Parts: sequence; structure tokens; C-alpha cells
Amino acid sequence: TTQRKVALVTGANKGIGRAIAEQLAALGMTVLVGARDPRRGEEAAAAVRAAGGDAHALALDVTAPATVREAARLVEERFGHLDVLVNNAGITGSGQVAPQDAVDQIPSSVDLDMVRAVFETNVFGVIAVINAMLPLLRRSPAARIVNVSSHAGSLTLTSDPDGPFAALLPSAAYTPSKATLNALTVQYANELRKDGILVNAAAPGFVNTESNNHTGHLTPAQGAAVVVRLATLGADGPTAGFFSEDGPLPW
Ligand code: NDP
Repeated sequence: TTQRKVALVTGANKGIGRAIAEQLAALGMTVLVGARDPRRGEEAAAAVRAAGGDAHALALDVTAPATVREAARLVEERFGHLDVLVNNAGITGSGQVAPQDAVDQIPSSVDLDMVRAVFETNVFGVIAVINAMLPLLRRSPAARIVNVSSHAGSLTLTSDPDGPFAALLPSAAYTPSKATLNALTVQYANELRKDGILVNAAAPGFVNTESNNHTGHLTPAQGAAVVVRLATLGADGPTAGFFSEDGPLPW
């Protein structure tokens, strides 16, 4: 039997996560399609299988600890280990709107409960999933963790008054959540360096998905490419890095 690598992608029932799942499956990995709605997870997994891949739905709401625990238990039971974890699940907090219309993100008038909800998914959910899956990742000879971040999470890019990212609508929720995710990426990478687990952050670019009301100019497959590259790094690959498809990004 072939020794397929096992990869878990959170929020893989649609958008960039689904494209990541398709691409990892096309590379020969067994892909666990994380989805908080099991029915939509199963639909996405079935589509990956129809394209010739090995995929299984995995019920997982990153903000619901019981589902995170149960997902880790099922991975342990069925596979005994995990090689790749992609923390893709994320929300903007503004629903399905173009970024320039997300006025509810503006710092001086933001709803603190919205900020909390965004951090619950984009930051605390990532910690919960990594920590639940780490015992399984430690059993892989070459585990990789990729956190799906954003150019908006770069303090360097967003603080440059002459750069394109300073023109974005100010955000006290989504943008700080991705900056925090970047900080976490470095801290996990530092802890896990000695174990050979490479941890990096990826910025997919502005991708056409529901999260921006389909205003993005890249396809989900294009956005997924950098994530897949970081999920398949060789032993000499980087850790504690932040990358787009065009190369390294400044923090
Ligand atoms: P989508 O809204 O299309 O997909 C988001 C996915 O995350 C869905 O599967 C969604 O599930 C899932 N999700 C949300 N909350 C949870 C949760 N609590 N538990 C489990 N899954 C959850 O967005 P994108 O594909 O655009 O975004 C994917 C990632 O890429 C996000 O982290 C986003 O911040 C990031 N990103 C996107 C960019 C873009 O231009 N699109 C740019 C930069 C970064 P459900 O279907 O149930 O809602």
C-alpha cells in the first residue's frame, strides 16, 4: 500500500480552503476536509474523490472545543498521525461584503463583540486546533503547519502611508486578527523548530470568494498555490516565515 501523507484543512468546504484540499489531494495526499457543517464538508470531500483524490469530511468548528477534540480523536483512530495542518478557516466579521464596504470594521466605531468573534475564529481557533493536533503532527517525520493569513496582517505593509495597503479601509477586527496570527506563527515556529515541524504564514492575495462578495481578482486555485507550497516544504525549507506567491512578505 502507498504511504499517503495525511493533511487536514480547516474550513475546506468552500473558497480557498476547498482549493487547498483539491490541490493537496492532487499531490497524492489523503485530505481531511474540515467543515463546521458536516453535510457541506461531505459534498466537498465527494467532489475531491470524484476528481480522483482521497478525501474524507471531518466535522470541525474551530470555535467549538468539543468538535476540535472529537476531530483529533477521529484522526488518531483512523490514521494515527497527521503530516500537514492548514489553518484556513477564517471570517472577516463583516459577512459577505467587498473590503471597501466593511465600514463595521472601522476602529472608532467597531462593535467589540464583532472583534471578539473574529479573534475567536481567526486566532483562538487556530491555537485550539494546533494544540489538539500537535500530538499527531509530532508522529509525522516531516510535519508542516500553514496558517492562512493576509497581506492585511502585515504591520509593515499597512503602516506604509505610500503603500497600497494603507488605502484599505481601517480595520480593528480582521486586520489585527491576521497580525496576531502572524505573531502566533513565529512563536509556534520557535517552539517547534527543534522538532523539525515547519510553521509558516501564507497570504493568498485578493481571491474571488464569498468572504469578499466575489470581488477578488484571483481564483481560489491561484490563492491556494502558496499555501500548498508551504504545506509541502522539504526539510531545508523555511520556518517562521510569511509568504505570498511572489515571495517573502515583511511582517
Ligand atoms: P470563505 O468565506 O469562502 O471560506 C471560509 C471557510 O472558513 C468556510 O469553509 C467557512 O465555513 C470556514 N469557517 C468559518 N468559520 C469557521 C469555524 N468557526 N470553524 C470552521 N470553519 C469555519 O473565505 P475564503 O476562502 O476567502 O477565506 C479562507 C481564508 O483565507 C481565511 O482565513 C481568510 O481570512 C483568508 N484570506 C482570504 C482572502 C481573500 O481574498 N478571499 C485574502 C486573504 C486571506 P462555512 O462555509 O461554514 O462558513
